[in-house]
Amino acid sequence: MEISLFWFRNDLRLSDNEALWKCVEKSSAVLPVFIFEDRLFEQNSIGFQRIGHNRLQFLSESVFNLRSDLQLLGSNLLILRGKATEIIPALAEKYHIRHVFASLYWTPEETAEENLVEARLQKLKCRFHGFNSETLIHPEDLPFPMAAFPNVFTRFRKEVEPLNFIRKPFPAPAFIPTLKLDFDAAAEEAGIPLQNTACPYRGGERAGLQRTQYYLWETRLVEKYKETRNGLLGSDYSTKFSPWLSLGCISPRTIYFEIKDFERKVTANESTYWVVFELLWRDYFKYMAKKSGARIFQLSGLKEEKMVWSKDKETFLRWASGKTGNPFVDANIKEMNETGFMSNRGRQNVASFLAKDLKIDWRWGAQYFESQLIDYDCSSNWCNWTYVAGVGSDPRENRYFNTWKQAGQYDPEGAYIRKWLPEIAHLPAMHFQKPDGMSLRFLNENNQKVPDDFPQPMVTHALPV
Ligand SMILES: Cc1cc2nc3c(=O)[nH]c(=O)nc-3n(C[C@H](O)[C@H](O)[C@H](O)COP(=O)(O)OP(=O)(O)OC[C@H]3O[C@@H](n4cnc5c(N)ncnc54)[C@H](O)[C@@H]3O)c2cc1C
Repeated sequence: MEISLFWFRNDLRLSDNEALWKCVEKSSAVLPVFIFEDRLFEQNSIGFQRIGHNRLQFLSESVFNLRSDLQLLGSNLLILRGKATEIIPALAEKYHIRHVFASLYWTPEETAEENLVEARLQKLKCRFHGFNSETLIHPEDLPFPMAAFPNVFTRFRKEVEPLNFIRKPFPAPAFIPTLKLDFDAAAEEAGIPLQNTACPYRGGERAGLQRTQYYLWETRLVEKYKETRNGLLGSDYSTKFSPWLSLGCISPRTIYFEIKDFERKVTANESTYWVVFELLWRDYFKYMAKKSGARIFQLSGLKEEKMVWSKDKETFLRWASGKTGNPFVDANIKEMNETGFMSNRGRQNVASFLAKDLKIDWRWGAQYFESQLIDYDCSSNWCNWTYVAGVGSDPRENRYFNTWKQAGQYDPEGAYIRKWLPEIAHLPAMHFQKPDGMSLRFLNENNQKVPDDFPQPMVTHALPV
């Protein structure tokens, strides 16, 4: 039994945390650490901090919630800011640590970081133990080798569904023997300011587990998920599990077994199946990201052919600030900018509008989402963007979202648009559902006025589909 360091990363939870379980099992004392990586506070290529204020708030809440949960187990959390590649080896040396345990990421930046940490630890005769805990289906349980991972989602789903095998979640440790240190001083030095945000969700494992209880047992909303999942208003039309999943505050397996329990005790229907189906999409993109490496960040994505993209910064910033003059797109962007969340329907539409209507470099959109979304997840975000931009693994050519038609279909009365664009709340919904519905000509013809500074539509036509 020796001293180990536990490096919390994409697994900000105590339950179903294999790496943590194994670490506690094998150690006489543990030093739990979380590092707010310096790179999060850098500016991206479009001039936004990589972690925007909503996302930072959700992350901070999750980290501080983790610390109080660890304290209940007689442990604590060393919260630092800097570079893991320097901090982890330095701590290992200072406290004579023999083992470092962590959950693994599969995306390039984080994998490179892991590899460097491991190499530096080796020089100190300290062993790095990495565990795969992000996915529903453990990589060792796939019915094919990684190299043969199917590029198309349906093929992946059809191969894994018949397995009907998901590993059981690990329980939370009952007690964590912990190295004695001044943990509070370190947290203060990390100096992560609490943000004042309008985000409707609180970070942390407790809030994630509560959301699961709420969505399944308290309200039984899960029974109608398939019918409501394309909604836009409020928080009950879909599970909203993504913010907690993205930081690992809750594991997909915990959700899976909770759903199976619900199916046994209450009902099993298309909706309960569909939540698991969506979790498979999440797995699929994680595996695709692992397989594709840095290609998910390249302009040509997973495709060979070259497409022409604009780098017009002004156009992009109009999109990012919700001033395109397309009410459905602008309302969705405004919601994300204010709360850090946007529905799946909204994401598909605003992404399609940027990539297909404005023809802007889709990676700018992905970077903007990275900064804004509280559920930012590298694989889900970048792979979904490649998908919508037409450079991903989508077998369907020319997928295009006619945002005006979609507004009519999913916001027929215009209630969603009116919530986020109160300055045009007086307009009849038909103005939101035609490409030139907000043009001066159309407004005049219908005797409608909008504030002088309301943007004129940047695009007044839809592409043929
Ligand atoms: C351009 C674009 C960018 C996106 N960026 C992200 C991102 O950064 N992080 C993220 O978690 N999701 C992302 N998504 C996927 C999806 O929009 C969100 O997972 C979903 O809206 C989250 O809300 P929910 O938890 O209520 O989802 P639900 O509809 O309740 O689905 C349940 C869970 O299934 C998973 N899921 C559902 N749809 C998808 C999908 N298309 N791809 C991957 N997983 C899915 C999520 O984990 C989700 O929490 C993106 C989609 C698009 C089109």
